[in-house]
Amino acid sequence: MSFRLVFTCEVCGTTPDELTQGSIERQLLHARFGQYVDCYPEKWLVWHGNGIYGRTLYACGKHRGELKSFVRRHYGAIGWHPWSTETYAANPPEDLDQARRRLRHTGPKFVAT
Ligand SMILES: [Zn+2]
Repeated sequence: MSFRLVFTCEVCGTTPDELTQGSIERQLLHARFGQYVDCYPEKWLVWHGNGIYGRTLYACGKHRGELKSFVRRHYGAIGWHPWSTETYAANPPEDLDQARRRLRHTGPKFVAT
């Protein structure tokens, strides 16, 4: 069975082109908390809230400002992360193996009883 992840802009509902889709998919392998991530070539912005900062949010290149405004308005009183001016680049393809190994170590642990 194959499946495809569908990302839509939170503001206008558009979907990324194929290259940006791959960029967004690759950066999901990193365990992030309270970080903005750039995904090229369409310059999408992804907010990795997780935990107290809510779910992961996506914005196309035209609506990056709206996404940051939304995050800061809703979560800005909780901590400093929404106010960060730093954005991280999505994972380059050569970093995939390292990201997958890290994800295996941070995933949920099940203990047989
Ligand atoms: Zn948009």
